[in-house]
Amino acid sequence: MNPAQITRRPTPAVAVGDVVIGGGAPVVVQSMTDTDTADVEATVAQIAQLHAAGSEIVRVTVNDPQAARAVPRIRERLLARGLAVPLVGDFHYNGHRLLAEVPELAPALDKLRINPGNVGFGEHRDRRFEAMIEIALRHHLPVRIGVNWGSLDQALAARLMDENARRSEPLPAEAVLREALVRSALDSAAAAERCGLSADRIVISAKVSRVPDLLAVYRALAARSSYALHLGLTEAGLGLKGIVGSTAALSLLLQEGIGDTIRVSLTPRPGEPRTMEVRICREVLQALGLRTFAPEVSACPGCGRTSSSYFRELADDIQSWLEARMPEWKPRYPGVEKLKVAVMGCIVNGPGESRHADIGISLPGAGEDPAAPVFVDGRKVATLRGPGIAEEFKRMVEAYLRERFGSDRAAAE
Ligand code: SF4
Repeated sequence: MNPAQITRRPTPAVAVGDVVIGGGAPVVVQSMTDTDTADVEATVAQIAQLHAAGSEIVRVTVNDPQAARAVPRIRERLLARGLAVPLVGDFHYNGHRLLAEVPELAPALDKLRINPGNVGFGEHRDRRFEAMIEIALRHHLPVRIGVNWGSLDQALAARLMDENARRSEPLPAEAVLREALVRSALDSAAAAERCGLSADRIVISAKVSRVPDLLAVYRALAARSSYALHLGLTEAGLGLKGIVGSTAALSLLLQEGIGDTIRVSLTPRPGEPRTMEVRICREVLQALGLRTFAPEVSACPGCGRTSSSYFRELADDIQSWLEARMPEWKPRYPGVEKLKVAVMGCIVNGPGESRHADIGISLPGAGEDPAAPVFVDGRKVATLRGPGIAEEFKRMVEAYLRERFGSDRAAAE
């Protein structure tokens, strides 16, 4: 997919620290910590991990005075490690109080996330919301107005339900609740603008946990506003279910040009790193051709023609090796992330797919001559044999990188 085939929906550009959301900027990857924010060491360590994995913005919950006082220390520690990752404070219920009572909190943040469903009720709600917007204005901070299915503004939902009940042909309850979600986000954004927050300081989100609902809600937000949009399926779930649901939802919307920053709300399985959610975001963006982060390895699934598990092991070995070498290669070989590698299992599609890659290897299938032809820029350049195929192929990949992306070549050009 050529990125030019996706026409992004125009929005104002929202600066979050040094990162820009919307305004035609590349879709931003973000994530959220699950440490106790008051535990400065653990939170700094996790932010550093998420950032190293590719999270361009990291959100932390600010749920009590201890967490509020920890945020400036987290910021200092990150800066001391040379990490200028933008931090977002996630506020619910008591955000207005924490921001007022801990004056050093807001200057340590790059964005506030406010959930209008969790600010309060009636007049309290409006006053608290306005108080947080005023603090954002004072500190020149953008705000994400983040509505969530699980904490929908109940008064608004009840009012829309009542109105719907009076219709001659009432809509299904789910449609009314989706409308309440959209209305809550847009009304709150309009209220923030009335307080003086300009549209280039506003990002909105309205997260739900089912893919069809998410598509409907975001299509409505995109049609009825021009705010930058933060996409994500909330409570996506564990493992495969969360990955597939998030990928389906994000991909469909991004393909329609909807979405300026994304987060995958995956529940990590025991022992699974928090960084998995960042990897999924990057894979989705790269698969759609919206961003390029790392070399791509095309590998066939294997079938009865593959002679042994050696093929799978080699494909996995090459993929892991490419990922592990990227931090070193990135500064040395500018553009290396565009590299395309093929590792194929037999002669049926092996040579063809390898020719389409920058560098590819076609392993021998069952009954074939035990030789592995290597293709570079569409031409067969070598045939590898014996137990050292993987190492020899890696050397050829490195030689290709030096030739194509190395500084010698840049100087020659
Ligand atoms: S390339 Fe060969 S081994 Fe791989 S899936 Fe196709 S037929 Fe099977």
